[in-house]
Amino acid sequence: MVRAAGKRRVAVLGGGVGAITAAYALTDSTAARERYNVTVYQMGWRLGGKGASGRNAGAGQRIEEHGLHVWAGFYENAFRVMRDCYEELATRGLRKPEAPLARWDQAFKPLNRFYISENVGDDWRPWLIDFAATEELPGEGDPLLPTPLELLGLTVEWLRGQLEILEDRLGHPVHGHDDDEDGPIRDLLGDAALISVLQAGSFARFALNVAGELARRGQPAGPLRTVAARLLRRLASELSEQVFEQIRPRLEAEDDLRRAYIMVNLGTAAVRGMIADDVIRDGFDVIDHVECSAWLRLHGASSYAVDSPLFRGCYDYVFGFPAGDFNRRGMGAGTAIRGLLRMAWTYKGALFYKMQAGMGDVVFAPFYQVLKDRGVRFEFFQRVTDLHLSADKKRIERIGLCRQAVPKGDEYDPLVDVNGLPCWPSEPVYERLVDGEALRGLDLEAPWEPVGTLHELRDGADFDEVVLGISIGSLPELTMELAAASPPWQRMLDKVQTVQTHALQLWLTQSPADLGWPAQVVRYNPQANGGPYGEPVVTSFDEPFDTWADMAHLLPHEAWPEPAPRSIAYFCSPRPDEAAPVRDGTAAAAALGSGRAAAKAWVENELPRLWPGLRGPNGFRWDLLHDPQNRSGAERMAAQYVRVNVAPSERYVLSVEGSLAHRLQAGQSGFANLYLAGDWTRNGINAGCVEAAVMSGLQAARALSKLPFEVVGEGDVLENTAPRPPGLDGLAASAAPFPFSAAYAMGQLDGWFTFLPLPEAAVASLLPRGLRLARQHLTPRGTHPVTVLFAKQMGVRPSFLPQPPKMLDYHELIVAIGFVEHADRSKGGGVFCWLPCLYLDRLIHILTGRVFYGLPKHRAAITRTDERFKAVLGTSMLVDATFDADGQVGSAADFPTLRGARELLAQPMAAKSLLGQWQYSFFDFGLERATVQPCRAEVTVGAGLGLPAGRYAQPSLARHKLGTFRLWTEWTLTNPLDSARIASTAAAHASFDAKPRPGPRHM
Ligand SMILES: Cc1cc2nc3c(=O)[nH]c(=O)nc-3n(C[C@H](O)[C@H](O)[C@H](O)COP(=O)(O)OP(=O)(O)OC[C@H]3O[C@@H](n4cnc5c(N)ncnc54)[C@H](O)[C@@H]3O)c2cc1C
Repeated sequence: MVRAAGKRRVAVLGGGVGAITAAYALTDSTAARERYNVTVYQMGWRLGGKGASGRNAGAGQRIEEHGLHVWAGFYENAFRVMRDCYEELATRGLRKPEAPLARWDQAFKPLNRFYISENVGDDWRPWLIDFAATEELPGEGDPLLPTPLELLGLTVEWLRGQLEILEDRLGHPVHGHDDDEDGPIRDLLGDAALISVLQAGSFARFALNVAGELARRGQPAGPLRTVAARLLRRLASELSEQVFEQIRPRLEAEDDLRRAYIMVNLGTAAVRGMIADDVIRDGFDVIDHVECSAWLRLHGASSYAVDSPLFRGCYDYVFGFPAGDFNRRGMGAGTAIRGLLRMAWTYKGALFYKMQAGMGDVVFAPFYQVLKDRGVRFEFFQRVTDLHLSADKKRIERIGLCRQAVPKGDEYDPLVDVNGLPCWPSEPVYERLVDGEALRGLDLEAPWEPVGTLHELRDGADFDEVVLGISIGSLPELTMELAAASPPWQRMLDKVQTVQTHALQLWLTQSPADLGWPAQVVRYNPQANGGPYGEPVVTSFDEPFDTWADMAHLLPHEAWPEPAPRSIAYFCSPRPDEAAPVRDGTAAAAALGSGRAAAKAWVENELPRLWPGLRGPNGFRWDLLHDPQNRSGAERMAAQYVRVNVAPSERYVLSVEGSLAHRLQAGQSGFANLYLAGDWTRNGINAGCVEAAVMSGLQAARALSKLPFEVVGEGDVLENTAPRPPGLDGLAASAAPFPFSAAYAMGQLDGWFTFLPLPEAAVASLLPRGLRLARQHLTPRGTHPVTVLFAKQMGVRPSFLPQPPKMLDYHELIVAIGFVEHADRSKGGGVFCWLPCLYLDRLIHILTGRVFYGLPKHRAAITRTDERFKAVLGTSMLVDATFDADGQVGSAADFPTLRGARELLAQPMAAKSLLGQWQYSFFDFGLERATVQPCRAEVTVGAGLGLPAGRYAQPSLARHKLGTFRLWTEWTLTNPLDSARIASTAAAHASFDAKPRPGPRHM
């Protein structure tokens, strides 16, 4: 790779969703393109990896997929990137508006219904599940996802509805144990206000922790424990086994009763578990060491509900059967419950979206075209063989590659035209390769295919940074040196498991509607009432192909000669591991042979249960399979497509319990120039899906470039661990003694800081009796800095309560005078800040601020946009400020000019309590983890604010040591009862600062 002047060379290894997203992000802005030269190294002839598809020119240009793919409506990151790519495809003139699938919403169509195939007695009964379409569109709008508490709230709302259905079918209310005075589920779901019940749950856990700590210190803990236990018991009411035994005889015959029971039982167990295990406070990862079915059982789900096809369908969706053993489930509870709740409650538009051509055509061809046009280089037919470390084991020094084929021109042109749509072919375009004919019949996507010549890329000569986008199944072989040098790398390879999959595609001479499918639906879903059956997606069906999707919508994009097929059906499943891992072409051919045999047997024996019309008076109707060669009987299976995904990188990535802790994040490879992209990383979703791979790609690009790519939904909850300043005890809540270290205020803030250098006398006049201005060095003599913060406060709450709903967010205008001290030093020796006024637009926080912290909070009308903040008190304008970004977003460490502001923000607050006592607290802005952007400000201060009125043009942090900036951060505020510690620590800091320290000697 040639280095263009000053550019860093990035080698992207692999071309799946993760790798391509990283390449996309690294070239997404002019600034990024000026910094990076990106080259993608991909084995074989196409991008896509597990999402690759190809057009078979010998069979009606049919689409041949790696396996069935649908996109969920909650794939916020994936849709954002994809939509952006389609827009750029148009703006770069790469796709005309009238071309096929020119827009993203032509390429992805909503799907709001699916079916669970219930095996009841001897029947397979389709269970129709409908979701309501929403007005929103995926990939746009609010990037903030609901917190675990909010997801829980939505689940409880839904459960109420399910409970009503259940009680309606039962003819009486559902109760828990007879002897449980607090028992009825209704109490949990209905009577008590939701938030208070949930907070009670969280409080109960907190109270138990405190009780435990008191007991350890030999102090009485009994009463606290009783209160906590009672609260928890109240939440632990359940649909008991006793109730289950009563209704069991009716479950087989009454579809509605059975389905409502299963949903209520699973739903209440999940709600209870989330409360009991502190998920609403700490996020879903805390339960990921437990297998999801076991976790639900632990929290009261019945084995009937957990083993039900509904819940098994969740495993089918993520191939969650380690080693392909259908009797063994393996899915961490945290990953599973997060995924399910996000899927159900955060989808936009539709629950699912179906691609309107092959995934390669709809996703990877547009990416390829845009990236190529941006200047990314694609090296197809380059198989990575191994990665080698530098002598100090800190960097990737060499990348071993096998050049499988040589293009005739400078670069291989990989796409072909099918009905006006750029597509990937199902095999290389041999005529575009030197000696291409000699390659016919070889599998250039198999790592064991020996053809090609070996060569190497070298650090500093061919690349500077590496994005590893090859999937984890291949990494044990490719990264042996890394595993030997890094225990975390080895642990990741040991713990993150993968599974084989297989796929079947049928082209039919009739549609499933002709084959009796609608009658099955109506029979078991009377509410469907002959309504449209859409293009069904069905899961939980009989193995070894548990999932079916009707794909008839693809027919117009294939190019069949007459007689053309009338419909298309895709099937997919995990595949049991072979007796020995597949390592060569012979074993792969044997696996394909057994896959074909299994497909034929399944089509003949099981599929007629879904489509009764497949059986005629003379047995199985093979003539219903489309075959251009018109073979007879089961021979027609040869015209269908069967695929076994047995090569290491093709294996689906699982999220088995206990593995999450061993996943590495994109920027955490442990090697200085190596970044990780793929669904196997720790990315926030941590499951094998397009969204996880996209998130990881963005994270890899962010870690590599330090550019501020937003990744929606990376974390469930705020992290609240404030760092201690080295050397001295910290002021922050985390440094407080127990229980104050566990009970403090916290929240998130998005606000602008500006620092007005105002006349000393005017500033001094704002101080209360007993405080005076201390010496400061940040603004010119005769002036004193006054900090003004224009903030949006989010998720503000006591630390032991879960994040409140977004509707409780508020705006706040804070004026702070730093560098103040007690006139009477015996009152305390520290340097503080004094807040002469704070204005908020939410009453509850005004009250808590005044009562607990002694802060002079008032209510004002505040309006805020992305560049303006205006506060008005009655008719009096307090402040009207506009902000103008002046540079890139970065972390606090990126801005040395932040030093002055840091000094001001590190000073604890002095306030007067309601009783007139001095009271101290510390607001930790979490600068170490915050995001900062320099801004210019125009601030008009009105007469009502108390500061000298006028217009202030404030320089930005990019140009001034006390310049204006915008800050996104998570903060903590110490407990008001922790005041004495703050005072003494502040005094210790002041005397430490006053002491002469060894430093450079002046001659
Ligand atoms: C059958 C099946 C069905 C699925 N269905 C869905 C679905 O409906 N919805 C959903 O969201 N997700 C689905 N997934 C998951 C989804 O496909 C993956 O999460 C996603 O494609 C993973 O992308 P990735 O970039 O992490 O890895 P991969 O797609 O595996 O990409 C790895 C890349 O590295 C390349 N590579 C491998 N070895 C080498 C080498 N030695 N040298 C050079 N290049 C190499 C590969 O060719 C590929 O380009 C499904 C997966 C499977 C297997």
